[in-house]
Amino acid sequence: MSAGRYAPSPSGDLHLGNLRTAILAWLFAKASGREFMLRYEDLDTGRTVPGSADRQLADLGALGITFDGEPVYQSHRQRYYHDAVAQLSAQGLVYECFCTRREIQEAPRAPHAPPGAYPGTCRELTDEERGRRRTERPPALRLCTERTEFTVQDQLLGSVTAAVDDFVLARNDGAAAYNLAVVVDDQLSGVDQVVRADDLADSAPRQAYLRGLLYGQTAVQAVQYAHVPLVVNAQGKRLAKRDGAVTLGQLAEQGVAAEQVRDSLLGSLNLPPGPLDKVLAAFDAAALPLEPWMVTSTPDGVLKSPE
Ligand code: GLU
Repeated sequence: MSAGRYAPSPSGDLHLGNLRTAILAWLFAKASGREFMLRYEDLDTGRTVPGSADRQLADLGALGITFDGEPVYQSHRQRYYHDAVAQLSAQGLVYECFCTRREIQEAPRAPHAPPGAYPGTCRELTDEERGRRRTERPPALRLCTERTEFTVQDQLLGSVTAAVDDFVLARNDGAAAYNLAVVVDDQLSGVDQVVRADDLADSAPRQAYLRGLLYGQTAVQAVQYAHVPLVVNAQGKRLAKRDGAVTLGQLAEQGVAAEQVRDSLLGSLNLPPGPLDKVLAAFDAAALPLEPWMVTSTPDGVLKSPE
């Protein structure tokens, strides 16, 4: 199977930025003859808002976004993440890390280390030190990487090179970390097209590198990436819920129908208005605008992009 996906966190209603990315992910998948899957990234249980997964599905449906198969919930898939960590562990590629956030910030690092990269403090712990630290706090598990950066090809951004450090595979509460869960789920669900907002572009090299370790180079080569521009507010910052009427529910209260929102989003992509399956014929990835889309929503509910 060959599939694209949309992978929201069920932490509230989707806003215009999320919805625009979802439309793009659907168009990329359908234009390339792929299936399209919905995956709820709900591993961070503290952020999950009850009922929001269903509302997200309803809002996506109101825009005409359809999915193949049942939605996947990451919270139901711990055994697959566990198996992946066990596989890496058997290859000697996993180590326990006891560092607190503060210790990581304050640790000495190599002169050219990328900002935020883990300095490798716990890589060289002796068995004795490890035993002692285990009595103080439960460890997170980190990947023992053999390189400092990795490059992927992106359909919109070209070559994307970013740091690969000893990133976390499992948090110290036992939950799988974001990068691991994405890689395992994409691979096991047949996802070979990743379309998401471009603030995640820097995660792609780490994920591709990890995919190679777990599933081999062919699996890495198979994935097509397209990181799409963000929707931003009038100050040029990533759109957020506090930016006013930005969800379908809020816009409906102002008298703006889902079809109108869909058409505004399509307009922002230089695509004609109308049902998505009709718009598909006009979709050309190479003709998409590559700048962020600045949006404001006026009190009368009309979505506008400032001149
Ligand atoms: N859950 C992420 C988000 O809502 C998307 C992760 C991904 O597409 O890999 O931004």
